[in-house]
Amino acid sequence: MVTTPLLPSDYLDLVSPLRAGAELRGRIEAVHPETDDAATVVIRPGRGWRGHTAGQYVRIGVDVDGVRLWRAYSITSPTNRQDGRVTITVKAILDGKVSNHLVRRATPGTLIQLDQPTGDFVLPQAKPAKVLYLTAGSGITPVMGMLRDTEFDDVVMVHCAPQPQDVIFRNELHDLVADKKLRLTEVHTDTDGKLDIARLDELVPDWAERETWACGPAGLLDAAEEHWTEHGVQERLHTERFRPSIVVAGDGGGEVTFSATGKTVDADGATPLLDIGEEAGVLMPSGCRMGICFGCITPLKAGAVRDLRTGEITEAEPGVLIQTCVSAAAGPCDIER
Ligand SMILES: Cc1cc2nc3c(=O)[nH]c(=O)nc-3n(C[C@H](O)[C@H](O)[C@H](O)COP(=O)(O)OP(=O)(O)OC[C@H]3O[C@@H](n4cnc5c(N)ncnc54)[C@H](O)[C@@H]3O)c2cc1C
Repeated sequence: MVTTPLLPSDYLDLVSPLRAGAELRGRIEAVHPETDDAATVVIRPGRGWRGHTAGQYVRIGVDVDGVRLWRAYSITSPTNRQDGRVTITVKAILDGKVSNHLVRRATPGTLIQLDQPTGDFVLPQAKPAKVLYLTAGSGITPVMGMLRDTEFDDVVMVHCAPQPQDVIFRNELHDLVADKKLRLTEVHTDTDGKLDIARLDELVPDWAERETWACGPAGLLDAAEEHWTEHGVQERLHTERFRPSIVVAGDGGGEVTFSATGKTVDADGATPLLDIGEEAGVLMPSGCRMGICFGCITPLKAGAVRDLRTGEITEAEPGVLIQTCVSAAAGPCDIER
């Protein structure tokens, strides 16, 4: 009663936001530029942090212009880092709210929300004899977490970026090459063109024998999955996607009502309801934004929505929950937010 409307924990948060028992948070302690549009953010997680496995990602909640936005970022620091801090490395994308904020505006001292690390794009317990890392652009981040964490006898990396100066962690990669801990092929797509997956025969002749971790844009990963499957070695390929593969966009959208907030907006049949809600200023829960973590599930009160990955229509029924990050309006609907 004494502290109403704030809770005692709100006061504790002011003096000790990273304490044990507090909602998990982290403090940004440094931001190091990596390339013109990418930076590594050094975070000190609060006491409840359980640690990660190399290759996993963490969801972070960042306040941008007064709105809390959640995004996923791969952890780029090794698991045995001694100072208890972790790093993520973010590439600013065109019109990207969180990525530009982190790369260009985040300052040391800022508190962010953290989830526990998660993800199954990880190294196995038993070390494979030969490893291939196939990456492009910011897709290098989970792999850098692995490279910094675990040494293998025989590691080859094929990495694509528009130009040499766009290669994130380039100096560190070249140091590993000089120490004979890595064989690296850089594909500079501005001059070499996009990597034709068939070129792997020439770049890494024994690619099919290698346990492979691939992360990059959908085009590269789709081609890799097809290639590995064609050669019957798909079980050796592990992929991580930063965006969902949208295969269907419905023709018509509809009027979307967020009944708890009392807002109604028009939506097309291709834009995720999560984006529609955020754009309308509705407080939407969110997570990976690609349909894997279920952090965005919300009751569908009325109407119908379309799953953008499969085209499947879900109609409102009592208890029906939808993933707003991969669902678009399929006619008028009411989302309980
Ligand atoms: C498991 C996982 C791990 C990830 N790890 C990293 C990482 O280590 N480093 C990193 O930089 N990013 C990573 N991402 C992507 C990251 O979560 C955000 O999607 C990205 O930073 C864009 O967020 P934003 O708020 O800047 O863009 P938004 O404001 O959400 O979007 C702006 C525009 O860009 C488009 N867009 C959204 N995401 C992407 C994308 N990834 N690529 C291209 N266009 C996009 C949107 O459709 C929209 O048109 C990861 C994503 C996942 C799911």
